[in-house]
Amino acid sequence: MKKDTKKRILVWLLMLSLLLPLPGMTNVAHAEPTPTPPSPPSLTEVIPDSGQSNHLIMWCSGWGPEGWGHMWRLSTSPDMMSPIWDDFTDEYVNSVEFSESLLNLIEGMMVYLAARYFHGSSSDIVSGWSNIYSVEIDDNGAITNVELYDDSPPPPGDCLDSPNGEHEWETEVTKEPTCTETGVKSTRCKHCGKQNQEEIPALGHQWERKVKEEASCTEPGVASMVCKRCGLEKSGSEETIDPLGHQWERKVKEEATCTEPGVASMVCKRCGQEKPGSEEMIDPLGHNWVTVPAKMPTATEFGQTEGVRCDMCETWLVTPQQLPKLGSEGSEHELTVEPSVWTQGSNVSVNFTPDTGFADFSHVTVDDEIVDESNYDTREGSTTIAFRPAFLETMPVGTHTVKMVSPSGTARGALEIKASATQDTAKETQPGDTVPVTGEDRGNYPWPALTLLAAGGILLLLRKRRLSRQKS
Ligand SMILES: [Zn+2]
Ligand SMILES: [Zn+2]
Ligand SMILES: [Zn+2]
Ligand SMILES: [Zn+2]
Repeated sequence: MKKDTKKRILVWLLMLSLLLPLPGMTNVAHAEPTPTPPSPPSLTEVIPDSGQSNHLIMWCSGWGPEGWGHMWRLSTSPDMMSPIWDDFTDEYVNSVEFSESLLNLIEGMMVYLAARYFHGSSSDIVSGWSNIYSVEIDDNGAITNVELYDDSPPPPGDCLDSPNGEHEWETEVTKEPTCTETGVKSTRCKHCGKQNQEEIPALGHQWERKVKEEASCTEPGVASMVCKRCGLEKSGSEETIDPLGHQWERKVKEEATCTEPGVASMVCKRCGQEKPGSEEMIDPLGHNWVTVPAKMPTATEFGQTEGVRCDMCETWLVTPQQLPKLGSEGSEHELTVEPSVWTQGSNVSVNFTPDTGFADFSHVTVDDEIVDESNYDTREGSTTIAFRPAFLETMPVGTHTVKMVSPSGTARGALEIKASATQDTAKETQPGDTVPVTGEDRGNYPWPALTLLAAGGILLLLRKRRLSRQKS
């Protein structure tokens, strides 16, 4: 325990030793009232000794008044309230060497060094502390850095320029902190201009996810974390965004028509790419045949046979044929009627033969109503037709005008229908039944219905006749 106490080495006493003898405590009268402490001493410099790592060299502004000694303190806090080493002396000491045991205690720490006066009569009567130096000790117990500790706000009451002796502090940010760099906040007395600077910690980055490259249907995108404030990209934060994949939808490339197929395929909604192999045929729609009704000719207007046409593409399946006007059709011809009188129930046909003049005919009328082709037979190679008995039975008793109409003329004849003379002559009829088999239609000839049928009949007739001509 001899070396454990702080060992001091007086170094720079060379010149000072020539000066006045140091004031002794013995001179102080005990009876005197409590002395007023002087102003604190002022340390002008404390530096590490370049030769010894456990040695500090110190300079002080003065020795202090007579009757007062010096006291050094090493504290773990800058308010000097946590002493780990005190040294009292009546001599001013210019250097200090930290003992090994002290260094063991404070290695790796920051400690604070200051001096003050104490009165010879009592170490409790002291001045304020001198300016304070921070002393940094590394893990090996070596003094690595010493500097004036001036972070503490200056004590109040020492403003020379303010009316009440108090500093009045104004704070101003002189350097804004950034994400990575500290800022500086200055505190300045508006009276005396005394200034303290305080560090403002760096703000740190504010990361947010940012898409650098949007993903497409097929290509991946890229996102990363980027600082909202300074735009820095966080290293290693880059991530891949999966490709979105196509969004297929069926698209008609070519519309189908009545006869031609259309084409459809799957196309991506987003990028417009066509899905390979997705092309498909759309079946032709097929014609939508509609019947264009026949128009019967009148004395003044041409008629027209029934036609069949597609209402979508307007293609004719059956082209209507023009029908000549009634009554005034071309030249007049005779129509030989054989027999010219037909008795109901006779079950024989009636032949109509035009005289020479026209080779073909378009239709046949009875009392200017077109007769359906199913009601008569045509003889190949000629224009003779034969009304069937069943049809004849439907005709009312009386004389009827029969016309065979052709584009070049009309042959005209007359047919008389007679009622059967007696029940006996009508052998084929049922006994006691005055009405023939087809009698239901008798006297109630369905002309409008016949007219409608007639259009189709005419058409077929024309074809048939054309066919027969080709054959002949
Ligand atoms: Zn001030
Ligand atoms: Zn940033
Ligand atoms: Zn796509
Ligand atoms: Zn069509």
